[in-house]
Amino acid sequence: MTKLVDVVGGSRVYIGKTEELLKTLLPKKRIVVISDLCIDRTHHDIIAPYEHILIGQGEQAKSFGTLELIYQKLIDMGADRSTFILGIGGGIVTDISGFVASTYMRGVEFGFITTTLLGSVDASVGGKNGVNVAGFKNMVGVFSQPKFVICDVELLSTLPDREFKAGLAEVIKTAILGDVNLFEILEQSSFEELRSNNALLEEIILHSVQVKASVVADDEREGGRRRILNLGHTMAHAIEKCTSKFSHGEAVAVGLYHITNSALEQKLISETDANRILALLQKYGFDTALPIDRKQLLKAVMGDKKRCGDSLHLILPTAVGAVIDKKFDINELDQIF
Ligand code: NAD
Repeated sequence: MTKLVDVVGGSRVYIGKTEELLKTLLPKKRIVVISDLCIDRTHHDIIAPYEHILIGQGEQAKSFGTLELIYQKLIDMGADRSTFILGIGGGIVTDISGFVASTYMRGVEFGFITTTLLGSVDASVGGKNGVNVAGFKNMVGVFSQPKFVICDVELLSTLPDREFKAGLAEVIKTAILGDVNLFEILEQSSFEELRSNNALLEEIILHSVQVKASVVADDEREGGRRRILNLGHTMAHAIEKCTSKFSHGEAVAVGLYHITNSALEQKLISETDANRILALLQKYGFDTALPIDRKQLLKAVMGDKKRCGDSLHLILPTAVGAVIDKKFDINELDQIF
């Protein structure tokens, strides 16, 4: 049975079967799909019925160059303001297609079918869309809510283990920041179980989307509470800026590990809870070693777009299921990392 989570601005996440959901969710409009070449190979049957634009893969595709290519194709197709854009893919496709839809002809309606675990639990939910600039992640973007998001766990079966694991990093992040039950489910499950048990997978997606939707409902444009979703991300973005060795999710796992240790050093979290978090990251096999030296890391952190003058907000875990938003002077960052 389809599970629903309302986000904000009438946006709704549907966890269910793509084919059934599309019958009722797609408007009677011209539909243009934006997807990537890999998804066209693994899930051609969903893309093929519609006019479509395929983009490349990886963070380098999340660029102004790709935007220009898509805008040009939309113009060539004669797409107008009544066109509906359907982004089918992982976080890269949904970030780009949401941005294109929000800006093409000053904005057209759009929806997503998310095809990665990371996309299902995080990237497709909450209305942040954008592109990278000069190596800085998501430097240009908009807040704009999709009409709908479809999460269909069957689509995730073709996902390589590495991508699935990257999504689990965001699930663990969500559990740490606000869902003890989800954390316990993860403690009691295993990677293999989550990969093979669709009902369990739907459950962890539902928990994650509910947490994200509730945070976004309080603070859609990240003036305050929404910042907690950045747990582990300051370090992750710095790592992604300095090396392409780690995907976004893998970098988030490194960030979660080190920020938990930092919280422990600052006596913000009990040893028991910190150890539970570190053990969970280990259980799911995350590589938590810093892939760059500290100097490089600090330099990249200084360039974080969330920096505000000489200070930076960092989110630190204070327990399993709770975090604190602390403002640090950039001169203190050396000690924190
Ligand atoms: P991704 O979109 O790059 O997808 C990972 C890879 O898996 C790609 O090569 C893709 O082609 C392939 N793929 C996708 N679905 C597949 C499937 N079903 N079967 C086989 N292969 C498939 O990566 P991602 O992890 O989904 O997203 C990462 C991006 O999301 C980052 O750019 C990150 O910044 C962004 N993000 C955005 C938000 C937000 O709120 N907007 C939140 C978190 C992350």
